[in-house]
Amino acid sequence: MDFETFQMMWELSAPGGPAEKCFLRLNQEEYHCEERPKPDILEMMPDEAWPGRAVDGIAFTTLTIDTPVYLDYLMSRFVKGGGSVVRASVQHIDALVDGTYSISDDTESPELASPHAVVVCAGLGARTLGGVEDENVYPIRGQTVLLRAPWVRFGRTLSSEDGTWTYIMPRKSGDLIVGGTIEPNDWYPAPRPETTRDILERGLTLCPDIAPPDIRAVRDATIDDLVPTIIEEGCGLRPGRKGGIRLEVESGRKVPVMYNYG
Ligand SMILES: Cc1cc2nc3c(=O)[nH]c(=O)nc-3n(C[C@H](O)[C@H](O)[C@H](O)COP(=O)(O)OP(=O)(O)OC[C@H]3O[C@@H](n4cnc5c(N)ncnc54)[C@H](O)[C@@H]3O)c2cc1C
Repeated sequence: MDFETFQMMWELSAPGGPAEKCFLRLNQEEYHCEERPKPDILEMMPDEAWPGRAVDGIAFTTLTIDTPVYLDYLMSRFVKGGGSVVRASVQHIDALVDGTYSISDDTESPELASPHAVVVCAGLGARTLGGVEDENVYPIRGQTVLLRAPWVRFGRTLSSEDGTWTYIMPRKSGDLIVGGTIEPNDWYPAPRPETTRDILERGLTLCPDIAPPDIRAVRDATIDDLVPTIIEEGCGLRPGRKGGIRLEVESGRKVPVMYNYG
C-alpha cells in the first residue's frame, strides 16, 4: 500500500505536472542506532543505498508533500469534478447510510439524502463515532516545529535506541519541518514549549545546516539562532490503531459502507 501510494505521488510530482507545486523531490538519509527490521519497504525506493554512518542506515530518492498546498489541490480537483462539500458533525453513521441526516431545517442536501456509498475516514473520531466505536483506535501525539530554511534541500532522520525519532523534512516552499515525537495515548492538544526546545536541539545536532548560513559562517549555531526562523509549532493526534489500518467494505446495508481509518 505504501509503495503504490509512493508511485502515484511520484507521478503527481513530475516536473511540469499539474501537482508539481505540492511536492519536493529530494535525497533522503535515514540513520538508525539499531539494525532496521528486515525486510524493509525502503529498500524498494529509487537510488537506495546505505549512507554508512550510525549502526545501520539507508539513503534513497523520495519526495515531501507541502500538505496544505496538496489538500487545496485535491479539493480543487474534487470540486472541478462536480463534487460538493458539506461540513458537519456526525453522531452515528446510520444517519448517513439511511439518508436521514439533515444539516438544519433550511439546508437542502440531496447528496446526503440518497448517497451511493458512505466512506468512513473519521481518524481518531472512529473511537467515538456511533456505529463505528472502535476501541482499538487511540491517539499517538506528535509535535513538530516549522522553520523558514530555504537553504535545506535534503531530508534526514535518526531513530535512536531510546525510541526518540528526529527528522528534518524540507517542503517545496522553503519551509522546513523539524520533529518529532511519538507519544501514545497522550491527548494534550497544544505544543509544549519544553518539547519545542528539545526538538530544536535534536534537529540541530542531527543537521547543523538547519541554522541560517550567515551564522554558521562565523560560529557554531545554537538553538537560540533557530528561534527567529520559527514559523509555527505544530501538534496533532495521529489516529493510531491496534492491529493497523481498518480498510474494508461492509455490504448488506442500504448502501455499501467503506471503512478507511487508523
Ligand atoms: C505532528 C504530526 C506529524 C505528522 N507527520 C506526518 C508525515 O510526515 N507523514 C505522514 O504520512 N503522516 C504524518 N502524520 C500523520 C498524518 O497526519 C495522519 O496519518 C493523517 O492525517 C491521517 O489522515 P486521516 O484522514 O485518516 O485522519 P484525520 O486527518 O485525522 O481526519 C479525520 C477527519 O474526520 C473528521 N471526523 C472525525 N469524527 C467525525 C464526526 N463524528 N463527524 C464529522 N467529522 C468527523 C475529523 O474532523 C477529521 O477531519 C503526522 C501527524 C502528526 C500529528
